[in-house]
Amino acid sequence: MIQKIKGTMDILPDETPLFRYIEGIMREEAEKCGFGEIRLPTFEQTELFVRGVGNTTDVVQKEMYTFKDGDGSISLRPEGTAGTVRALIENGKYGDAMPQKYYYIMSCFRHEKPQAGRTREFFQFGVEMFGAETPAADATVISLAYSVLKRLGLEGHVKLHINSIGCPACRPSYKSALVDYFTDKKASLCETCLERLQKNPLRLLDCKVPSCAAIAKEAPRTVDSLCSDCQTHFDALCKSLEAMNIPYEIDSSIVRGLDYYTGTVFEFVADGIGAQSTVCGGGRYDGLVESLGGPKLSGIGFGMGLTRVIMTMQQHGISPVSPAKPRLYIASLGANAQTFALSIVSRLRQEGIYAECDLVGRSLKAQMKYADKIGAAYTLIIGDTEIETGKANLRDMASSEQKEVLLSSFSLS
Ligand code: ATP
Ligand code: MG
Repeated sequence: MIQKIKGTMDILPDETPLFRYIEGIMREEAEKCGFGEIRLPTFEQTELFVRGVGNTTDVVQKEMYTFKDGDGSISLRPEGTAGTVRALIENGKYGDAMPQKYYYIMSCFRHEKPQAGRTREFFQFGVEMFGAETPAADATVISLAYSVLKRLGLEGHVKLHINSIGCPACRPSYKSALVDYFTDKKASLCETCLERLQKNPLRLLDCKVPSCAAIAKEAPRTVDSLCSDCQTHFDALCKSLEAMNIPYEIDSSIVRGLDYYTGTVFEFVADGIGAQSTVCGGGRYDGLVESLGGPKLSGIGFGMGLTRVIMTMQQHGISPVSPAKPRLYIASLGANAQTFALSIVSRLRQEGIYAECDLVGRSLKAQMKYADKIGAAYTLIIGDTEIETGKANLRDMASSEQKEVLLSSFSLS
């Protein structure tokens, strides 16, 4: 038997209603803030992600699905920001009124070690806002993520962590303080961290190896070496969050896994879903549009993993959707009755009612059992007599009450 690719998932009809419910809330909340949906290609030129996500990131170095395509190289999108920025530039949207606001719900692909909450194809709700540099823009994006999580019943189960990782003006001095600190501790660092020390010191703060994480915990904090512009921005963001009643904590360990971030970075972290506890991650990326060949234009956004949202909901027993149940099941006896049942079901469906009838030729007893199993609210039994008289007994399955109905004018709406 051919099996699915490791790290991919089948989402079956008993699970899709929950996905659709969550996606519906994401769409509603995004559209209430004026974000419009963007749909992007599944693959792009590899170069876009190398330049956009960053050459020294795990995503680009180890996790991309990359293929040769003629003389070129293409990759399945590992995230949505780079593609959105490319689309903004390519379609000249930077000429429109600012801010430009986009959202997407789409699959992304990363060649990772599959675990609960970490798959190779995963679904992400993402938003990107361009051309708004104020702390109010940061606060708007964060509050959008917060209101989605709140509507899903996760307020109190996820914590907002925020940090500022500084700008090109203040980051170099921070970086060198960081390098000095970690160089002293070189002997205790893992292989990857030794490499990070050379290539991308900020990422040292992001190591998941416990001994490295313990060292990172004591490292100099970005928030202690911000320039006055970054400090003012960060303070104003904190004030805005307080004004919107969004609880947060400042967490200097957040640096985010992608290279393009500047200034504000944030994560929503769930309690108790283990290593994959980051439900949502985002931040400001003011240099990205320019570095991908566009004008100087600021940006801020986040990505929220649908599976991690669902895992957190399940962990707290939140199940807001139940499977759809038919209002009516028509049991039939014989071929004529089956055709007649089908005509009634078809009429009811046109009226917007979910109705079913026998399609597999079950016995009457088995049909009634099936009606019960699928949770039909009402049943009708139709045989030759019912066709002749044009009348049948409508049975309320919950109360077992029956009443005679006229089939020609019968309606449940
Ligand atoms: P992590 O530290 O967990 O690897 P990340 O920093 O790589 O996350 P981002 O690139 O910021 O994650 O992606 C945004 C969100 O997308 C994450 O917070 C998470 O909810 C989700 N996500 C990322 N990678 C995966 C994956 N492989 N499987 C499922 N969800 C994922
Ligand atoms: Mg990752």
